[in-house]
Amino acid sequence: MTMIQCISPVDGSVYAERPAMPLERAKDAVARARLAQKGWAKRPLDERVKLVLAGVARLNEMVDEVVPELAWQMGRPVRYGGEFKGFNERSNYVASIAADALKPIVVEESDRFERRIEREPHGVVFVIAPWNYPYMTAINTVAPALMAGNTVILKHASQTILVGERMVRAFVEAGVPADVFQNLFLDHETTAALIAAKSFDFINFTGSVEGGRSIERAAAGTFTGLGLELGGKDPGYVMEDADLEAAVDTLMDGATYNSGQCCCGIERIYVHESLYDAFVEKSVAWVSNYRLGDPLDPETTLGPMANRRFAETVRRQVAGAVAKGARALVDPKLFPQDDGGAYLAPQILVDVDHSMEFMREETFGPAVGIMKVRNDAEAIELMNDSQYGLTASLWTKDAERAGRIGRELETGTVFMNRADYLDPALCWTGVKETGRGGSLSILGFHNLTRPKSYHLKKVTA
Ligand code: NAP
Repeated sequence: MTMIQCISPVDGSVYAERPAMPLERAKDAVARARLAQKGWAKRPLDERVKLVLAGVARLNEMVDEVVPELAWQMGRPVRYGGEFKGFNERSNYVASIAADALKPIVVEESDRFERRIEREPHGVVFVIAPWNYPYMTAINTVAPALMAGNTVILKHASQTILVGERMVRAFVEAGVPADVFQNLFLDHETTAALIAAKSFDFINFTGSVEGGRSIERAAAGTFTGLGLELGGKDPGYVMEDADLEAAVDTLMDGATYNSGQCCCGIERIYVHESLYDAFVEKSVAWVSNYRLGDPLDPETTLGPMANRRFAETVRRQVAGAVAKGARALVDPKLFPQDDGGAYLAPQILVDVDHSMEFMREETFGPAVGIMKVRNDAEAIELMNDSQYGLTASLWTKDAERAGRIGRELETGTVFMNRADYLDPALCWTGVKETGRGGSLSILGFHNLTRPKSYHLKKVTA
């Protein structure tokens, strides 16, 4: 029997393991989800919304277990208290717009005709989730999919193997029927086989570009709808009129929070030449204040990376950039806890350019490169010089200028004077290799349902 394991970044031990589900049993689970879906969809929307929110509330009651469990599974310091703020905000927001987002688009309602577009659930929705924000990334699809009348099968990352199990337990304890929301422990082969067997009516995959490619390949020819939320290399651009302190604070937090393991983390920063020296100096001071260490210690502000192989990627990219002339400005002596394994000191690189892997490939760690630019045109060209496009963070006091630059950017979200935040009222989406589709907002509901047109002629004479 194959076991799926979570190797804890805290001490390298096997923290949790579960047997991978054989294909036939997984198919049975899908069959139960399909059988349950029609009845679930027939329940009033209000009832579905209430049950999902009850599941969210039940999970909140588990906070004392969730927080240390997250630290053990993926290294996030306990002082940050789990993901409840975003988890609740997103769930409550989608609940508040569900009725509006799912209501029919009425084109005509006259004595002669009824013409409208209604929205129907897809059926069985498959959610494949990553470890970096394991609750928040999953809820983005799980909550609106269930509210819209789909049943959901969740396959969570091996690194956060307990998250799917706990989420489902909370929802079922709160009254969501067991076949309506199921967690399955699946290896890659079984996942691909289920997809290829047309088990699902829609798949939302959040994860790496390579993972996204595998899912797309598995789904080829099945015509299953796919939402792909993949990697990023998000830029910040600090203009000459920016609030320097705020820019340093938000961009450094965006680059390093969660050990930089955020899809919309800031990975490259372009600063106008007039602010460059001050920005770099303040950023190095900001980052040097981190306290790296055991995530279970409440004093720790920077935990280990989720797995030592992720830290190895960061180290390799940084070393490659330094070998090509980049300078690393954060003093390693400030971080004696860096053990060459999962515990990794933050780093800021200057004298970088786009020939370096560090400035082109997703780093997904607490390391960021800063470059000097002369004007908007140069900054736009550099920001767009990437195969990714999730968010871009512009720092200026001029909203009109930010709008103008935003229209030139190949990205899913344009921020002005903020970064690294997912607003559930807006569509979360990416361009280029960051994927396709969109979640949250009204458009997220539309992606989790299909349109059905009604053209009813009342008078035949
Ligand atoms: P990952 O390795 O691609 O894994 C994501 C999920 O997909 C996991 O559940 C994983 O299972 C599964 N998976 C990966 N390859 C698979 C395959 N060939 N067949 C079946 N399942 C497969 O990504 P990750 O390391 O967990 O997450 C980090 C990545 O996610 C980063 O690139 C980040 O930018 C991206 N991300 C994007 C967004 C967004 O909104 N755009 C949000 C969060 C994260 P196993 O764990 O069992 O391998």
